Amino acid sequence: MLELSFPNRPYRTKGGVHAPHNKNTAHKESVFLPTPSMVVLPMTQHIGAPCKPLVKVGDTVDVGQKIAASDAFVSAPIHASVSGKVKKIDKVTMPSGSKVDAIFIESDGEMRLSPDIKPPQVESVSDLIAAVRESGLVGLGGAGFPTAVKLSIPPDKNVDTMVINVAECEPYITSDHREILENSWDVISGIITVKEFLNIHRVIVGIEDNKPDAIKALRETVDNSLDPDDEIRVLPLKATYPQGAEKVLIKACTGREVPMGGLPSDAGCLVMNVGSIAFIARYLKTGVPLISRRLTVDGGCIENPTNVIVPIGTPIKEVIDFVGGYREQPYKLLMGGPMMGVALPNDELYIMKQNNAILALSEKEAKHSEPSACIRCGKCLDACPMRLQPVELSNAADRGDVDALNLYNAMNCMECGCCSFACPAKRHLVQNIRVGKALIQKAKREAAEKGGK
Ligand code: SF4
Ligand code: SF4
Repeated sequence: MLELSFPNRPYRTKGGVHAPHNKNTAHKESVFLPTPSMVVLPMTQHIGAPCKPLVKVGDTVDVGQKIAASDAFVSAPIHASVSGKVKKIDKVTMPSGSKVDAIFIESDGEMRLSPDIKPPQVESVSDLIAAVRESGLVGLGGAGFPTAVKLSIPPDKNVDTMVINVAECEPYITSDHREILENSWDVISGIITVKEFLNIHRVIVGIEDNKPDAIKALRETVDNSLDPDDEIRVLPLKATYPQGAEKVLIKACTGREVPMGGLPSDAGCLVMNVGSIAFIARYLKTGVPLISRRLTVDGGCIENPTNVIVPIGTPIKEVIDFVGGYREQPYKLLMGGPMMGVALPNDELYIMKQNNAILALSEKEAKHSEPSACIRCGKCLDACPMRLQPVELSNAADRGDVDALNLYNAMNCMECGCCSFACPAKRHLVQNIRVGKALIQKAKREAAEKGGK
C-alpha cells in the first residue's frame, strides 16, 4: 500500500477573502440553557427526505425518544429533546419560507430520560452506520447532511484520508472551537472510532491558526493518548474564508482536487465536522441521541454574546433572552454566519440540528450598500475558490440564459459569497448566481417532465 505522508504546512488553495473574524465568544465557556417550556421540532432538519411523526397529539414523550423518522436512505430520525406532552402537530415556516409539519412538545420540566436509551452495540462498520443513523446525527457544521449517509462510502471508492473540519472560517462562530476546548477527548475518541471501523489510514485535523489554544489542546490530547505511530496529525491552516468549505479544505490538507461535480470520496477523502465526530464518541458511550447542540449567539445587537448548549427545537427568542436579549433592535437576524447564513424574518423560529449560530447584526455590521456598475476589476474572479467567473454567471442569471449558466459551470458554485464580498461595486453576485442555479434546476425538471410524456 502507498505510504501516506503528512504535510508540514497546508497546500496552496485558490481564492478566498479575509473577512473580519469577530470571534468574540472564543474564550468564554459554553453555558447550558435551562429547560424551555416548549420545543418545536420540524420534520425537515436535514438534507433529504422529511420525517413522518411517530407520535400523536396527547402522547407523553421522554427525552431521547424517537418521535419522527423516514425509511428513505437520505434522512435522519428526530428525537424528543424534552420530556412532556405532544401539544400539537402543525405547519411551521422554515427559514427558507417553506412550510413543513412540526411536532410541538410542552415540557413537564422533568427532563425524564427515555428507558430505551442504552449505548449501541457496535462491532462492525455496518453496526456503526446503523447506530449513527439511529442517533439522528447530521453534519453539525451547518450543512445538515445525514452523517450515516456520509459514512456509507461506496465500495468502488478508495477513501484513505479523513479530514476533520475545524476551520470554522465564518466570522463570529466559535462553537467548534469551544467543542475542542471543552471536549477534546471526545474529539480524539470519535476520530479513532471512525478511523478504525472505516479502515482509514490517515487523519488530518485541519484547524485555522487563529485558534492557538485549541491547536495546543488537540496536540496534547493526541500526544498523551496515542501511540506515536498513530496516523492522526493536527494541521494549522491560514485563517481565510472559506477554508472550511469541503473542497478547499481537502486541497489545503492533502493537495488533492475534488473533480468538478465530484464528491470528497472521488479524492479519496471523508470530511467530518469536529462537533459531529465528538458527538459520535458520546453517543457510543451513552446512547443519548442528538437532542441538543452548542451554538454561538453573537452580533452587535446581542447584549452578552455566548456559546449556549440548547435543546433542539427551542424557540430562538428564548435563547436570545437567555443571553441578555437585544442591546438594540437587530438590522439583520441570521441563522448561521454572515457569509453563508440564512436571513431570518424574525426570532419566532426554532433551533434546528444543523444550526451552529444565531447572529443579530447591527446596520453597520450588515454592511448594506447599494450596488453600482461593474468596473471590470476582476476582483471577484480572483476571490473565487472554485475558479469560476462570477460576473459572467451573474450576467447569465440576469438574462435567464440557462445555456450560458451551464457553460460557466454555475452548479459548481458553492455559494460561499467571496465574489460579492470582494466586489468594490457591491454587486449582488452570489444572490444572482443562486437564482441562476435555481433556473438550471427548473430547466432540468421541465426537460424530465417533457421526456416522461
Ligand atoms: S459564491 Fe460561487 S462564484 Fe462566488 S466566489 Fe463563491 S464559488 Fe465562486
Ligand atoms: S469584482 Fe465587482 S466590479 Fe469587479 S469585475 Fe467583479 S463584479 Fe465587476
